[in-house]
Amino acid sequence: MSVITNHLPTAELQALDAAHHMHPFTTNDDLAKRGVRVITRAKGVYLTDSDGHEILDGMAGLWCVNIGYGRAELAEVAARQMTELPYYNTFFMTTHVPAIALAQEIAKLAPEGMNQVFFAGSGSEANDTNIRLVRTYWDEKGKPGKKAIISRKNAYHGSSVGSGSLGGMAPMHAQGGLPIPDIHHIGQPDWWSEGGDMTPEAFGLARAQELEAKILELGEDSVAAFIAEPVQGAGGVIVPPSTYWPEIQRICDKYEILLIADEVICGFGRTGEWFGSHTLGLRPDIITIAKGLSSGYQPIGGSIVRDDVAKVINATEFNHGYTYSGHPVAAAVALENLRIMQEEDVLGHMRNVAMPAFHQGLEALTDHPLVGEAKYCGLMGSIALTPHKATRAAFAADKGTVGYLCRERCFANKVIMRHVGDRMVLSPPLVITEAELTELFKRARKALDETYALLQEKDLLHAA
Ligand SMILES: *Cc1c(COP(=O)(O)O)cnc(C)c1O
Repeated sequence: MSVITNHLPTAELQALDAAHHMHPFTTNDDLAKRGVRVITRAKGVYLTDSDGHEILDGMAGLWCVNIGYGRAELAEVAARQMTELPYYNTFFMTTHVPAIALAQEIAKLAPEGMNQVFFAGSGSEANDTNIRLVRTYWDEKGKPGKKAIISRKNAYHGSSVGSGSLGGMAPMHAQGGLPIPDIHHIGQPDWWSEGGDMTPEAFGLARAQELEAKILELGEDSVAAFIAEPVQGAGGVIVPPSTYWPEIQRICDKYEILLIADEVICGFGRTGEWFGSHTLGLRPDIITIAKGLSSGYQPIGGSIVRDDVAKVINATEFNHGYTYSGHPVAAAVALENLRIMQEEDVLGHMRNVAMPAFHQGLEALTDHPLVGEAKYCGLMGSIALTPHKATRAAFAADKGTVGYLCRERCFANKVIMRHVGDRMVLSPPLVITEAELTELFKRARKALDETYALLQEKDLLHAA
Protein backbone atom coordinates (compact mmCIF):
# COMPACT_ATOMS: atom_id res chain seq x y z
CA MET A 1 0.00 0.00 0.00
CA SER A 2 1.37 3.40 -0.89
CA VAL A 3 2.29 6.12 1.58
CA ILE A 4 -0.60 8.52 2.03
CA THR A 5 0.27 12.00 0.82
CA ASN A 6 -3.05 13.85 0.89
CA HIS A 7 -2.56 15.41 4.30
CA LEU A 8 -0.21 17.74 6.15
CA PRO A 9 3.14 16.34 7.34
CA THR A 10 2.87 14.30 10.54
CA ALA A 11 4.60 16.91 12.72
CA GLU A 12 2.11 19.58 11.67
CA LEU A 13 -0.85 17.30 12.35
CA GLN A 14 0.60 16.50 15.77
CA ALA A 15 1.05 20.17 16.59
CA LEU A 16 -2.52 21.00 15.56
CA ASP A 17 -3.86 18.04 17.53
CA ALA A 18 -1.94 19.20 20.61
CA ALA A 19 -3.24 22.76 20.16
CA HIS A 20 -6.94 21.93 19.89
CA HIS A 21 -7.86 18.35 20.66
CA MET A 22 -8.46 16.95 24.16
CA HIS A 23 -8.16 13.13 24.12
CA PRO A 24 -10.18 10.70 26.26
CA PHE A 25 -8.43 8.86 29.11
CA THR A 26 -5.18 10.73 28.39
CA THR A 27 -2.80 13.14 30.11
CA ASN A 28 -2.90 15.53 27.19
CA ASP A 29 0.26 17.44 28.17
CA ASP A 30 2.32 14.23 28.10
CA LEU A 31 0.81 13.25 24.79
CA ALA A 32 1.59 16.65 23.30
CA LYS A 33 5.25 16.22 24.28
CA ARG A 34 5.52 12.73 22.81
CA GLY A 35 3.54 13.43 19.64
CA VAL A 36 0.29 11.64 18.89
CA ARG A 37 0.06 8.76 16.41
CA VAL A 38 -2.03 9.72 13.39
CA ILE A 39 -4.01 6.94 11.71
CA THR A 40 -4.98 7.81 8.16
CA ARG A 41 -6.64 4.72 6.71
CA ALA A 42 -7.32 1.04 7.20
CA LYS A 43 -8.15 -2.11 5.28
CA GLY A 44 -9.01 -5.55 6.65
CA VAL A 45 -7.02 -5.95 9.88
CA TYR A 46 -4.31 -3.39 8.99
CA LEU A 47 -4.15 0.29 9.92
CA THR A 48 -1.92 2.77 8.11
CA ASP A 49 -0.41 5.73 9.96
CA SER A 50 0.55 9.13 8.59
CA ASP A 51 4.11 7.95 7.90
CA GLY A 52 2.88 5.00 5.85
CA HIS A 53 3.51 2.28 8.46
CA GLU A 54 1.12 -0.65 8.37
CA ILE A 55 0.07 -1.83 11.82
CA LEU A 56 -1.78 -5.07 12.55
CA ASP A 57 -4.76 -4.13 14.71
CA GLY A 58 -5.09 -6.81 17.36
CA MET A 59 -7.81 -4.78 19.12
CA ALA A 60 -10.34 -4.21 16.28
CA GLY A 61 -10.18 -0.49 17.07
CA LEU A 62 -11.74 -0.38 20.53
CA TRP A 63 -13.17 -3.93 20.44
CA CYS A 64 -15.60 -2.95 17.71
CA VAL A 65 -14.44 -3.34 14.10
CA ASN A 66 -15.61 -6.95 13.98
CA ILE A 67 -15.95 -7.31 10.19
CA GLY A 68 -12.63 -5.52 9.57
CA TYR A 69 -11.91 -2.14 8.00
CA GLY A 70 -12.77 -0.88 4.55
CA ARG A 71 -16.02 -2.67 3.74
CA ALA A 72 -17.45 -0.54 0.93
CA GLU A 73 -20.96 -2.02 1.33
CA LEU A 74 -21.37 -0.16 4.63
CA ALA A 75 -20.31 3.12 3.04
CA GLU A 76 -22.74 2.59 0.18
CA VAL A 77 -25.64 1.86 2.52
CA ALA A 78 -24.80 4.99 4.54
CA ALA A 79 -24.71 7.17 1.41
CA ARG A 80 -28.02 5.76 0.18
CA GLN A 81 -29.70 6.25 3.56
CA MET A 82 -28.39 9.82 3.85
CA THR A 83 -29.86 10.62 0.46
CA GLU A 84 -33.21 9.00 1.22
CA LEU A 85 -33.75 10.00 4.86
CA PRO A 86 -30.67 11.32 6.70
CA TYR A 87 -32.50 11.87 9.95
CA TYR A 88 -35.79 11.61 11.62
CA ASN A 89 -36.57 10.92 15.25
CA THR A 90 -38.52 8.10 16.83
CA PHE A 91 -40.30 10.33 19.36
CA PHE A 92 -43.82 11.72 18.86
CA MET A 93 -45.43 8.58 17.48
CA THR A 94 -43.19 8.26 14.45
CA THR A 95 -40.70 5.68 13.23
CA HIS A 96 -38.70 4.88 10.11
CA VAL A 97 -37.76 1.78 8.15
CA PRO A 98 -34.11 1.37 9.30
CA ALA A 99 -35.09 1.41 12.99
CA ILE A 100 -37.93 -1.06 12.40
CA ALA A 101 -35.73 -3.41 10.37
CA LEU A 102 -32.80 -3.28 12.80
CA ALA A 103 -34.96 -3.89 15.88
CA GLN A 104 -36.51 -6.89 14.12
CA GLU A 105 -33.08 -8.26 13.16
CA ILE A 106 -31.68 -7.84 16.68
CA ALA A 107 -34.71 -9.62 18.14
CA LYS A 108 -34.10 -12.50 15.72
CA LEU A 109 -30.48 -12.94 16.87
CA ALA A 110 -31.05 -12.26 20.59
CA PRO A 111 -31.69 -14.98 23.17
CA GLU A 112 -35.19 -16.51 23.28
CA GLY A 113 -37.86 -14.24 24.75
CA MET A 114 -35.99 -10.97 24.16
CA ASN A 115 -37.89 -9.20 21.41
CA GLN A 116 -37.82 -5.49 22.22
CA VAL A 117 -35.03 -2.97 21.64
CA PHE A 118 -34.56 0.57 23.01
CA PHE A 119 -31.94 2.40 20.91
CA ALA A 120 -29.16 4.71 22.07
CA GLY A 121 -26.10 6.28 20.46
CA SER A 122 -23.48 4.37 22.46
CA GLY A 123 -22.89 1.80 25.15
CA SER A 124 -22.69 4.49 27.84
CA GLU A 125 -26.06 5.90 26.84
CA ALA A 126 -27.60 2.43 26.74
CA ASN A 127 -26.43 1.71 30.29
CA ASP A 128 -27.88 5.03 31.44
CA THR A 129 -31.14 3.88 29.85
CA ASN A 130 -30.83 0.62 31.80
CA ILE A 131 -30.57 2.40 35.16
CA ARG A 132 -33.87 4.13 34.46
CA LEU A 133 -35.45 1.02 32.89
CA VAL A 134 -34.88 -1.27 35.87
CA ARG A 135 -35.98 1.32 38.43
CA THR A 136 -39.07 2.21 36.40
CA TYR A 137 -39.85 -1.49 36.10
CA TRP A 138 -39.89 -1.95 39.89
CA ASP A 139 -41.85 1.29 40.39
CA GLU A 140 -44.50 0.01 38.01
CA LYS A 141 -44.52 -3.37 39.75
CA GLY A 142 -45.36 -1.57 42.99
CA LYS A 143 -41.91 -2.06 44.55
CA PRO A 144 -40.40 1.45 44.42
CA GLY A 145 -37.91 0.49 47.15
CA LYS A 146 -36.01 -1.68 44.69
CA LYS A 147 -33.51 0.94 43.49
CA ALA A 148 -30.04 -0.38 44.23
CA ILE A 149 -27.95 -1.72 41.38
CA ILE A 150 -25.07 -4.04 42.17
CA SER A 151 -22.05 -4.11 39.89
CA ARG A 152 -18.42 -5.20 40.21
CA LYS A 153 -15.09 -3.58 40.95
CA ASN A 154 -13.01 -3.12 37.79
CA ALA A 155 -16.11 -3.44 35.58
CA TYR A 156 -16.42 -1.10 32.60
CA HIS A 157 -19.90 0.08 31.65
CA GLY A 158 -19.15 3.42 29.99
CA SER A 159 -18.03 6.93 30.80
CA SER A 160 -21.17 9.02 31.37
CA VAL A 161 -22.12 9.86 34.96
CA GLY A 162 -24.60 6.98 35.16
CA SER A 163 -22.64 4.31 33.30
CA GLY A 164 -19.36 5.42 34.92
CA SER A 165 -21.03 4.90 38.29
CA LEU A 166 -22.12 1.41 37.27
CA GLY A 167 -18.53 0.69 36.26
CA GLY A 168 -16.07 -0.16 38.99
CA MET A 169 -13.00 1.73 37.77
CA ALA A 170 -11.45 3.42 40.80
CA PRO A 171 -9.60 6.14 38.80
CA MET A 172 -12.92 7.14 37.20
CA HIS A 173 -14.75 7.27 40.54
CA ALA A 174 -11.96 9.51 41.85
CA GLN A 175 -12.99 12.33 39.50
CA GLY A 176 -16.24 14.26 39.19
CA GLY A 177 -18.22 12.92 42.13
CA LEU A 178 -18.93 9.36 41.03
CA PRO A 179 -20.60 7.01 41.80
CA ILE A 180 -24.16 8.33 42.02
CA PRO A 181 -26.20 7.01 44.99
CA ASP A 182 -27.57 3.46 45.18
CA ILE A 183 -24.85 1.78 43.12
CA HIS A 184 -22.81 -0.91 44.91
CA HIS A 185 -19.77 -2.91 43.85
CA ILE A 186 -18.67 -6.44 44.73
CA GLY A 187 -15.42 -8.24 43.86
CA GLN A 188 -14.55 -9.39 40.35
CA PRO A 189 -13.86 -13.05 39.46
CA ASP A 190 -10.19 -12.42 38.61
CA TRP A 191 -8.57 -15.58 39.91
CA TRP A 192 -5.05 -14.80 38.62
CA SER A 193 -4.70 -11.58 40.61
CA GLU A 194 -7.02 -12.14 43.54
CA GLY A 195 -7.62 -15.89 43.92
CA GLY A 196 -4.84 -16.50 46.47
CA ASP A 197 -4.60 -20.17 47.46
CA MET A 198 -8.11 -21.06 46.33
CA THR A 199 -8.79 -23.20 43.26
CA PRO A 200 -10.33 -21.19 40.40
CA GLU A 201 -13.63 -23.07 40.92
CA ALA A 202 -13.81 -22.32 44.65
CA PHE A 203 -12.83 -18.71 44.02
CA GLY A 204 -15.48 -18.30 41.28
CA LEU A 205 -18.13 -19.55 43.68
CA ALA A 206 -16.92 -17.29 46.49
CA ARG A 207 -16.99 -14.21 44.26
CA ALA A 208 -20.50 -15.04 43.02
CA GLN A 209 -21.67 -15.46 46.62
CA GLU A 210 -20.55 -11.88 47.34
CA LEU A 211 -23.65 -10.96 45.35
CA GLU A 212 -25.87 -12.87 47.76
CA ALA A 213 -24.12 -11.31 50.76
CA LYS A 214 -24.59 -7.81 49.28
CA ILE A 215 -28.30 -8.45 48.58
CA LEU A 216 -28.82 -9.62 52.16
CA GLU A 217 -26.87 -6.62 53.49
CA LEU A 218 -28.95 -4.11 51.48
CA GLY A 219 -32.19 -6.05 51.87
CA GLU A 220 -33.79 -7.95 49.02
CA ASP A 221 -36.53 -5.32 48.75
CA SER A 222 -34.00 -2.59 47.92
CA VAL A 223 -32.14 -4.28 45.08
CA ALA A 224 -33.29 -3.70 41.49
CA ALA A 225 -30.61 -5.31 39.38
CA PHE A 226 -27.16 -6.81 38.97
CA ILE A 227 -25.09 -5.70 35.98
CA ALA A 228 -22.02 -7.49 34.59
CA GLU A 229 -20.13 -8.18 31.41
CA PRO A 230 -20.26 -11.94 30.60
CA VAL A 231 -16.48 -11.65 30.14
CA GLN A 232 -14.91 -8.43 31.47
CA GLY A 233 -13.32 -6.61 28.55
CA ALA A 234 -11.68 -3.32 29.52
CA GLY A 235 -10.96 -4.86 32.93
CA GLY A 236 -8.39 -7.09 31.20
CA VAL A 237 -10.36 -9.90 29.51
CA ILE A 238 -11.17 -11.61 32.79
CA VAL A 239 -12.82 -14.93 31.88
CA PRO A 240 -14.64 -16.06 35.03
CA PRO A 241 -14.14 -19.56 36.47
CA SER A 242 -16.81 -22.05 35.28
CA THR A 243 -18.56 -21.97 38.67
CA TYR A 244 -19.23 -18.22 38.59
CA TRP A 245 -22.15 -17.59 36.23
CA PRO A 246 -24.40 -20.52 37.27
CA GLU A 247 -24.19 -19.27 40.86
CA ILE A 248 -24.90 -15.64 39.84
CA GLN A 249 -27.93 -16.80 37.87
CA ARG A 250 -29.19 -18.84 40.85
CA ILE A 251 -28.88 -15.81 43.14
CA CYS A 252 -30.62 -13.41 40.72
CA ASP A 253 -33.49 -15.89 40.33
CA LYS A 254 -33.81 -16.55 44.07
CA TYR A 255 -34.04 -12.87 45.06
CA GLU A 256 -35.86 -11.60 41.94
CA ILE A 257 -33.04 -9.33 40.88
CA LEU A 258 -33.00 -8.27 37.23
CA LEU A 259 -29.85 -9.37 35.41
CA ILE A 260 -28.31 -6.87 32.99
CA ALA A 261 -25.70 -8.49 30.74
CA ASP A 262 -23.49 -5.73 29.37
CA GLU A 263 -22.62 -7.25 26.01
CA VAL A 264 -21.19 -4.12 24.41
CA ILE A 265 -18.06 -6.19 23.69
CA CYS A 266 -19.38 -9.75 23.96
CA GLY A 267 -22.41 -9.18 21.72
CA PHE A 268 -22.56 -9.92 17.99
CA GLY A 269 -20.07 -12.76 17.78
CA ARG A 270 -17.06 -11.82 19.89
CA THR A 271 -17.37 -14.90 22.14
CA GLY A 272 -18.09 -17.31 19.26
CA GLU A 273 -21.91 -17.20 19.54
CA TRP A 274 -24.20 -14.27 18.76
CA PHE A 275 -24.20 -13.24 22.40
CA GLY A 276 -21.96 -13.93 25.38
CA SER A 277 -25.17 -14.91 27.17
CA HIS A 278 -25.39 -17.86 24.76
CA THR A 279 -21.73 -18.81 25.25
CA LEU A 280 -21.81 -18.54 29.06
CA GLY A 281 -25.36 -19.78 29.57
CA LEU A 282 -26.92 -16.64 31.13
CA ARG A 283 -30.58 -15.70 31.09
CA PRO A 284 -30.45 -11.88 31.24
CA ASP A 285 -33.45 -9.55 31.49
CA ILE A 286 -31.64 -6.76 29.63
CA ILE A 287 -28.67 -6.90 27.26
CA THR A 288 -26.59 -3.77 26.58
CA ILE A 289 -25.33 -3.57 22.99
CA ALA A 290 -23.12 -1.17 20.97
CA LYS A 291 -19.60 -1.58 19.43
CA GLY A 292 -19.91 -4.76 17.27
CA LEU A 293 -23.55 -3.95 16.40
CA SER A 294 -22.26 -1.67 13.63
CA SER A 295 -18.65 -2.91 13.67
CA GLY A 296 -17.90 0.65 14.79
CA TYR A 297 -18.72 2.13 11.36
CA GLN A 298 -21.45 4.27 12.96
CA PRO A 299 -22.11 5.14 16.61
CA ILE A 300 -25.11 3.15 17.81
CA GLY A 301 -26.09 1.21 20.93
CA GLY A 302 -29.16 -0.05 22.70
CA SER A 303 -30.85 -2.23 25.27
CA ILE A 304 -32.49 -5.53 24.35
CA VAL A 305 -35.32 -6.09 26.81
CA ARG A 306 -36.94 -9.37 27.88
CA ASP A 307 -40.60 -9.61 26.92
CA ASP A 308 -42.06 -9.59 30.44
CA VAL A 309 -39.96 -6.56 31.44
CA ALA A 310 -40.86 -4.72 28.23
CA LYS A 311 -44.54 -5.45 28.89
CA VAL A 312 -44.37 -3.56 32.19
CA ILE A 313 -42.40 -0.62 30.75
CA ASN A 314 -44.59 -0.38 27.66
CA ALA A 315 -47.73 0.04 29.76
CA THR A 316 -46.52 3.43 30.97
CA GLU A 317 -44.89 6.50 29.43
CA PHE A 318 -41.13 5.99 29.77
CA ASN A 319 -39.80 9.56 29.92
CA HIS A 320 -36.48 8.84 28.33
CA GLY A 321 -34.80 8.90 24.92
CA TYR A 322 -32.08 10.41 22.80
CA THR A 323 -32.23 12.64 19.72
CA TYR A 324 -30.30 9.91 17.92
CA SER A 325 -32.15 6.86 19.32
CA GLY A 326 -32.37 4.56 16.29
CA HIS A 327 -30.64 7.08 13.98
CA PRO A 328 -31.56 5.98 10.44
CA VAL A 329 -28.03 6.08 8.99
CA ALA A 330 -26.53 4.25 11.97
CA ALA A 331 -29.37 1.71 11.93
CA ALA A 332 -28.99 1.08 8.19
CA VAL A 333 -25.24 0.57 8.57
CA ALA A 334 -25.73 -1.78 11.54
CA LEU A 335 -28.23 -3.77 9.52
CA GLU A 336 -25.75 -4.12 6.67
CA ASN A 337 -23.07 -5.20 9.14
CA LEU A 338 -25.37 -7.93 10.48
CA ARG A 339 -26.21 -9.00 6.92
CA ILE A 340 -22.51 -9.43 6.15
CA MET A 341 -21.91 -11.28 9.44
CA GLN A 342 -24.63 -13.78 8.50
CA GLU A 343 -24.16 -14.13 4.73
CA GLU A 344 -20.40 -14.54 5.07
CA ASP A 345 -20.87 -16.88 8.04
CA VAL A 346 -18.40 -15.00 10.22
CA LEU A 347 -19.30 -17.20 13.21
CA GLY A 348 -18.47 -20.29 11.14
CA HIS A 349 -15.11 -18.78 10.20
CA MET A 350 -14.44 -18.09 13.87
CA ARG A 351 -15.33 -21.61 14.97
CA ASN A 352 -13.47 -23.42 12.21
CA VAL A 353 -10.45 -21.19 11.62
CA ALA A 354 -9.89 -18.13 13.78
CA MET A 355 -10.72 -19.38 17.28
CA PRO A 356 -8.55 -22.54 17.16
CA ALA A 357 -5.60 -20.52 15.81
CA PHE A 358 -6.17 -17.70 18.32
CA HIS A 359 -6.38 -20.02 21.31
CA GLN A 360 -3.35 -22.01 20.18
CA GLY A 361 -1.37 -18.80 19.61
CA LEU A 362 -2.19 -17.52 23.10
CA GLU A 363 -1.37 -20.87 24.74
CA ALA A 364 1.94 -20.94 22.87
CA LEU A 365 2.90 -17.60 24.43
CA THR A 366 2.68 -19.10 27.93
CA ASP A 367 6.12 -20.70 27.42
CA HIS A 368 7.58 -17.17 27.33
CA PRO A 369 9.40 -16.29 30.57
CA LEU A 370 7.20 -13.19 31.10
CA VAL A 371 3.81 -14.83 30.51
CA GLY A 372 2.01 -16.43 33.44
CA GLU A 373 -1.31 -17.46 31.96
CA ALA A 374 -3.44 -17.06 28.86
CA LYS A 375 -7.22 -16.62 29.12
CA TYR A 376 -9.61 -16.44 26.20
CA CYS A 377 -13.21 -16.72 25.10
CA GLY A 378 -13.98 -16.67 21.39
CA LEU A 379 -11.81 -13.95 19.87
CA MET A 380 -11.08 -12.02 23.05
CA GLY A 381 -8.05 -13.02 25.05
CA SER A 382 -5.35 -11.86 27.41
CA ILE A 383 -2.02 -12.87 28.89
CA ALA A 384 -0.78 -12.04 32.38
CA LEU A 385 2.77 -10.68 32.59
CA THR A 386 4.60 -11.73 35.73
CA PRO A 387 8.14 -11.80 37.15
CA HIS A 388 7.40 -15.21 38.75
CA LYS A 389 4.88 -17.62 37.28
CA ALA A 390 4.64 -20.18 40.09
CA THR A 391 3.40 -17.63 42.64
CA ARG A 392 1.41 -15.54 40.11
CA ALA A 393 3.45 -12.60 41.44
CA ALA A 394 2.81 -8.99 40.50
CA PHE A 395 5.76 -6.76 39.59
CA ALA A 396 7.36 -4.61 42.28
CA ALA A 397 7.09 -1.62 39.93
CA ASP A 398 3.80 0.35 39.93
CA LYS A 399 0.97 -1.62 38.34
CA GLY A 400 0.91 -1.02 34.60
CA THR A 401 4.56 0.02 34.27
CA VAL A 402 5.52 -3.25 32.61
CA GLY A 403 2.30 -3.48 30.62
CA TYR A 404 2.90 -0.02 29.22
CA LEU A 405 6.48 -0.89 28.19
CA CYS A 406 5.17 -4.01 26.47
CA ARG A 407 2.48 -2.05 24.63
CA GLU A 408 5.13 0.34 23.31
CA ARG A 409 7.23 -2.64 22.09
CA CYS A 410 4.08 -3.93 20.37
CA PHE A 411 3.62 -0.62 18.53
CA ALA A 412 7.32 -0.65 17.59
CA ASN A 413 6.75 -4.11 16.07
CA LYS A 414 3.61 -2.92 14.27
CA VAL A 415 1.04 -4.85 16.21
CA ILE A 416 -1.57 -3.37 18.54
CA MET A 417 -2.07 -5.11 21.87
CA ARG A 418 -3.59 -3.07 24.65
CA HIS A 419 -2.35 -3.24 28.24
CA VAL A 420 -4.68 -3.29 31.24
CA GLY A 421 -2.35 -3.00 34.19
CA ASP A 422 0.16 -5.74 33.46
CA ARG A 423 -2.20 -7.87 31.38
CA MET A 424 -1.90 -7.69 27.61
CA VAL A 425 -5.20 -7.83 25.79
CA LEU A 426 -6.21 -8.95 22.29
CA SER A 427 -9.55 -8.64 20.52
CA PRO A 428 -8.88 -8.79 16.76
CA PRO A 429 -11.45 -8.36 14.00
CA LEU A 430 -13.58 -11.53 13.82
CA VAL A 431 -12.69 -11.99 10.15
CA ILE A 432 -8.96 -12.28 10.85
CA THR A 433 -7.36 -15.12 8.83
CA GLU A 434 -5.06 -17.86 10.04
CA ALA A 435 -2.08 -16.26 8.26
CA GLU A 436 -2.83 -12.89 9.87
CA LEU A 437 -3.04 -14.54 13.30
CA THR A 438 0.33 -16.22 12.68
CA GLU A 439 1.76 -12.80 11.86
CA LEU A 440 0.09 -11.24 14.92
CA PHE A 441 1.63 -13.78 17.30
CA LYS A 442 5.03 -13.54 15.60
CA ARG A 443 5.06 -9.79 16.23
CA ALA A 444 3.66 -10.22 19.75
CA ARG A 445 6.41 -12.67 20.68
CA LYS A 446 9.08 -10.34 19.38
CA ALA A 447 7.55 -7.51 21.43
CA LEU A 448 7.59 -9.77 24.52
CA ASP A 449 11.25 -10.66 23.92
CA GLU A 450 12.13 -6.98 23.65
CA THR A 451 10.09 -6.19 26.77
CA TYR A 452 11.95 -8.91 28.67
CA ALA A 453 15.33 -7.50 27.60
CA LEU A 454 14.18 -4.02 28.58
CA LEU A 455 13.07 -5.21 32.03
CA GLN A 456 16.49 -6.79 32.59
CA GLU A 457 18.19 -3.61 31.47
CA LYS A 458 16.01 -1.43 33.73
CA ASP A 459 16.22 -3.95 36.61
CA LEU A 460 12.43 -4.32 36.76
CA LEU A 461 12.15 -8.11 36.87
CA HIS A 462 11.26 -8.17 40.57
CA ALA A 463 8.23 -9.52 42.34
CA ALA A 464 6.24 -7.24 44.62
C1 LIG B 1 -17.10 0.23 25.56
C2 LIG B 1 -18.03 -0.29 26.58
C3 LIG B 1 -19.11 0.47 27.05
C4 LIG B 1 -19.31 1.90 26.66
O1 LIG B 1 -19.62 2.06 25.33
P1 LIG B 1 -19.40 3.51 24.63
O2 LIG B 1 -19.95 3.28 23.25
O3 LIG B 1 -17.94 3.78 24.68
O4 LIG B 1 -20.19 4.49 25.39
C5 LIG B 1 -20.00 -0.12 27.93
N1 LIG B 1 -19.83 -1.38 28.34
C6 LIG B 1 -18.82 -2.15 27.92
C7 LIG B 1 -18.72 -3.56 28.39
C8 LIG B 1 -17.86 -1.63 27.04
O5 LIG B 1 -16.83 -2.35 26.67
